[in-house]
Amino acid sequence: MLDVGGLTKAYRQGEGIFDIHFQATSGTIVGIIGANGAGKTTLLRCIAGLLKPDAGSIEIAGNQPGTEAGKCLTAFVPDQPHLFPSLTVVEHIQFKAKAFGVPSDKLEESVGQALEAVGLSAYADRTSGSLSKGQKQKVMLASAYQHQAQLFVLDEPTNGLDIPSRQWLAKWLVDQKAKGKTILVSSHSLDFIKDVADSCLMLRKGKSQGVDQVPQAQDEKIAWGDQVIQRLGGAVQVHE
Ligand code: ATP
Repeated sequence: MLDVGGLTKAYRQGEGIFDIHFQATSGTIVGIIGANGAGKTTLLRCIAGLLKPDAGSIEIAGNQPGTEAGKCLTAFVPDQPHLFPSLTVVEHIQFKAKAFGVPSDKLEESVGQALEAVGLSAYADRTSGSLSKGQKQKVMLASAYQHQAQLFVLDEPTNGLDIPSRQWLAKWLVDQKAKGKTILVSSHSLDFIKDVADSCLMLRKGKSQGVDQVPQAQDEKIAWGDQVIQRLGGAVQVHE
């Protein structure tokens, strides 16, 4: 589903990401972990088609990011949910549905399903400005959900979420994976990655420290987590 090869994006000061390689197949969750400034957002924004790489390739089911097909296949949820404060939840989701070509006779059904999928039906008529961070995050997910993307790209979605919202998100991601979606999720929380991810790309100062399979057994997860902390120079949050 996703094939990233030799991806490089260098900013003027020489920071960025350098020669990143990894793949993600359908029905898997790939975690991306690294300290502040490690390059997680840069990587995800390149994959979402929002930043132009300097070198390397990105293929989303054979399509490039930023092309019509690439955009339809990809849903990007940034770390800060960007919503128009005066639009209601339902207006936001309708807006996104129209932008992605949901036909008008399917709009009501599509929006209703999206709201239900993220548990926001009761908030449909609330203005976005009155929502909590976690609820805004859900509006972003609902918008992504209803354009039937195959690749979800989530940048630090656990930031600012309380424990129930975080548990809800973990379950939602695993449900999407069971439906065959491919999910890339960055986080500072090794615990979250251990809970949800099948594999994990580790970034340090813009360079890959490898891609590991996340072990399934609890004791192996603990040992793996200790290794990851060492490989990332200790600069990763174990608990939120
Ligand atoms: P955080 O966990 O703090 O969100 P991150 O892993 O997402 O960090 P990036 O935001 O990708 O890291 O930043 C990677 C590096 O590139 C950092 O050193 C950052 O200062 C630099 N950088 C990011 N965006 C720009 C930009 N627009 N111009 C110049 N440098 C940038």
